[in-house]
Amino acid sequence: MLNKASELFGINVFNDSVMKERLPEDVYSALKSTMKEGKTIDSGIADTVAAAMKDWALEKGATHFTHWFQPMTGITAEKHDSFISPTEDGNIIMEFSGKELIKGEPDASSFPSGGLRATFEARGYTAWDPSSYAFVKDETLCIPTAFCSYSGEALDKKTPLLRSMEAINKQALRIIRLFGHTEVKRVNVTVGPEQEYFLVDRQVYEKRPDLVFCGRTLIGSMPPKGQEMDDHYFGVLKPRVAAFMRELDAELWKMGVLAKTEHNEVAPAQHELAPVFTTANIAADHNQLTMEMMKKIALRHGFVCLLHEKPFEGVNGSGKHNNWSLSTDNGINFLKPGKTPDKNPLFLLSLAAIIKAVDEHQELLRISVATAGNDHRLGTNEAPPAIISIFLGEELTDILKDIAKGIHHDNTERINMNVGADIIPAIRKDNTDRNRTSPFAFTGNKFEFRMLGSSSSISDANVMLNTMVAEVFSEFADRLEKSDNINEEINCIVKEVIENNGRIIFNGDGYSKEWKEEAQRRGLLNLESTVDALPLLKSEKNIEMFEKHKVLNRAEINSRVDIILENYSKILHIEALTLIDMMNREVIPAITAYTDSLCTAVLNKNSIGGINSSVERELIARLSAANNEIFSLTGELKMAVSSAERSRDVFEKAKEYHDIILKNMCDIRKYADSAESVMPSDYWPYPSYGELLFSN
Ligand code: ADP
Ligand code: MG
Repeated sequence: MLNKASELFGINVFNDSVMKERLPEDVYSALKSTMKEGKTIDSGIADTVAAAMKDWALEKGATHFTHWFQPMTGITAEKHDSFISPTEDGNIIMEFSGKELIKGEPDASSFPSGGLRATFEARGYTAWDPSSYAFVKDETLCIPTAFCSYSGEALDKKTPLLRSMEAINKQALRIIRLFGHTEVKRVNVTVGPEQEYFLVDRQVYEKRPDLVFCGRTLIGSMPPKGQEMDDHYFGVLKPRVAAFMRELDAELWKMGVLAKTEHNEVAPAQHELAPVFTTANIAADHNQLTMEMMKKIALRHGFVCLLHEKPFEGVNGSGKHNNWSLSTDNGINFLKPGKTPDKNPLFLLSLAAIIKAVDEHQELLRISVATAGNDHRLGTNEAPPAIISIFLGEELTDILKDIAKGIHHDNTERINMNVGADIIPAIRKDNTDRNRTSPFAFTGNKFEFRMLGSSSSISDANVMLNTMVAEVFSEFADRLEKSDNINEEINCIVKEVIENNGRIIFNGDGYSKEWKEEAQRRGLLNLESTVDALPLLKSEKNIEMFEKHKVLNRAEINSRVDIILENYSKILHIEALTLIDMMNREVIPAITAYTDSLCTAVLNKNSIGGINSSVERELIARLSAANNEIFSLTGELKMAVSSAERSRDVFEKAKEYHDIILKNMCDIRKYADSAESVMPSDYWPYPSYGELLFSN
């Protein structure tokens, strides 16, 4: 297996060793410094790189090239051009210029721009991102690119991510220099996103219009067996699932994705893939590729891969864990506590910066994971609540508290408890260290942000994290650069942060009711839905911060809020129409047909005489009542959708969808599910949860 992996790994990537082999030395080193230090590419070398890339791609069987970009739809987009170019003698040659490598002009007027591009200049530009390797996929050379408007405004997920990485690099360099590390040229954000997903049998899936159109079930009553036995978690893989995972790993390895761990998750039919961490930009690209390949390869094995955050009510949904840290180009991890964390000022300062950033910008983390799908998941006793808090573990919290109190910390005991592995801090790994209920947890040498939805791009979350922490680092650097006793000043900073921002630290059970109340007492935000969260992105405080660090300007922020809210409404619109259709055309007629057959049974029994038909009568009464409710609620839902669609204001519209339509859909579901639970399966028009969850 290992052999196979090493043979496959990166064979379809124009990676460092390929570049070294195929590029002239000066071009190679120019490109490398661009990649390493984030410098702008010199157009002179682009032609040479393009030619080498093309020759390499042709050898890999590529016939086309595409600028591979990530518009605000959250998925990737491609526009394929072939390499062919006619010659005078009527033949063709394969061509690819530096200009084509650096810049593309997709006809992109139909990508969401939130009003950034007026239609008269509906052109969008894609620009090569040399910090992420080009690769071959489906006979196409894919060039990772950023996507922006004519005047340079970001229209995608990558551009702000790259800008935010620049912002944090700049501020983190100031910090690391204070500790005498003048050799450091760059501080990278490292990210490892763990990805959850469901696999369901394709034939069963295709009989469910709600899954086909919405990616989640809109109705469905619970099967007799759910996840209560916990027998799926890390259970033995079924052969068809194992075959899928093996092929997925192999395909990802070919494209240089460091797929590492594959296992079953808590819910039946749920699984997880974790890659080895890499720089944030590459991690984001690779996560997009991973999601794409999951969907594609699932089909080859007779499955459909569901990336929706909540495909099944009453069953755990899917998320992503964004493991995040900061590392210098020579390998210093800012968040590695070492054996004596209390004597590690870089670690303590970084910890303080993150605590302050998360406390002061709670809403940004919540906003970064706000989608219609993820709203179903957060705060439902399976995923972190919508309240942001930080888990540090008792010992780390004690260290910070002691510093705040000015108590000298004796850590000899702790050293003795060092487990030995480098990555595990010299802090006791107590039970709470496995706290799964915290949205933002310190896990040894990184923070793990656990609120991301399974289908989202990880860019948004990392843009927020990077910018927030850059902001606090810049504030700390301003203070420390002026100070003549750095250690004392760091102590002051830690003390202040514990006093002012300590409320964000919570090591207890995030699912509990008590925490909700406690969080409210602490004044922490509880933004339950996308509609509650999104408007806060436009606050002056946030606009000022994003503009200061050149990550997003006011127009870009406004456009993003509009796009996200519009998207929210669109999703609910499709869901509502699907539900209306399912009720009118299948569920109502099915209930009618079954009650009809019950009526016939009653009549037959009556004609014989003396036979009890109370069961039939009771069922007729219950089902007719449910059907009546479904019928009238479906009518109401239709009217509510028309009313929402008339709304001109993006926010008002989203609010109508959230406040009225979502609730209406839940009501319909209640009656439909109760009908399903008493109807024979051959009368019910759709495969049950049992069939969906236990079909693989
Ligand atoms: P779990 O959360 O299930 O305990 P692991 O401890 O195996 O999982 O790690 C989860 C993820 O964290 C992996 O993708 C791993 O590569 C990533 N990770 C480890 N160290 C870092 C780091 N310094 N920066 C970012 N991600 C990291
Ligand atoms: Mg994890």
